[in-house]
Amino acid sequence: MLARILPRLRGAAPLLGPGDDAAMIAAPGGAFVITVDTLVENQDFRLHWPSGFESSGFDVGWKSAAQNLSDINAMGAYATAAVISLTLPHSTPVRWVEELAEGFSAAVRELGALDCSIAGGDLGRGSEVSITAAVTGALPTGKPILRSGAKPSDIVAVNGVLGVAAAGLALLDSTLPAADWTEAEAGIVQGQRRPKPPLHAGPEAARAGATAMMDLSDGLLKDGQRMATASGANVCIERGALLNDIERLEPISNALGCDPLPWVLAGGEDHGLLATFPAEADLPPGFRPVGVVQALEPGESNPKVYFDGLAQGASIGYDHFEG
Ligand SMILES: [Mg+2]
Repeated sequence: MLARILPRLRGAAPLLGPGDDAAMIAAPGGAFVITVDTLVENQDFRLHWPSGFESSGFDVGWKSAAQNLSDINAMGAYATAAVISLTLPHSTPVRWVEELAEGFSAAVRELGALDCSIAGGDLGRGSEVSITAAVTGALPTGKPILRSGAKPSDIVAVNGVLGVAAAGLALLDSTLPAADWTEAEAGIVQGQRRPKPPLHAGPEAARAGATAMMDLSDGLLKDGQRMATASGANVCIERGALLNDIERLEPISNALGCDPLPWVLAGGEDHGLLATFPAEADLPPGFRPVGVVQALEPGESNPKVYFDGLAQGASIGYDHFEG
């Protein structure tokens, strides 16, 4: 769809156009980054879940802020302003909308986006709830970190949890009644409802010499594939580096009778960071190695993501137009 839309969009050229987590725009005295994201009821979130759980406006507002702030973080930037556009059915309770505003502000504050003003927005009516936020960011190093900079022999590193949001989604979607969830299960669901992108880690990674970076919005393998494609090198992930992530989710997968590995490898919406660093670099706090970047094999033309030495297929992770 993007390949059809983008050639038809003609305006002044940005400093950095589509293809990364945010675009970079020239401004007098420098440049800034900008991103936009939409959450639509029954597509990106649900108000009523099979488990009996009800999503609050606070949760939806939090998630909208978190996913936009995460895209700014992924560029090595910090957020400076947000504008929000809301589409609401006539039946939406006013209190739900107040909670949405409170959730958005709470995420900005509690995730530590202390320079981010909430500068305005738009309000309209529609058949379902839809929230769109655009966020701008400033680049402390003056230079964004792109998806395309990974080099052979770089360390592949991750900051933040893997698979928690997907495990939480599985619980919300299950028939295990929300009223009976254990404290651990409720905690995992909290990770899905209110993801916590590590907002200082993006600028820190930029200062530490990250060669490529993106946020983990659609799962480690799918996002790793995007980084591999953009960089023209293979991104190789090792299972041994993910044992703690797998173990953390085992109580949930045991309760639901499934395998936790697909959550860790392909679960979206955790909004941690995937970054690469030169082999000799000291990883900044919060980053842990999960693999290495390798040059394409002789005769290999398409960069791939590998898991334990096996090339992964194209249908991995979460796709917005699937299903
Ligand atoms: Mg992103």
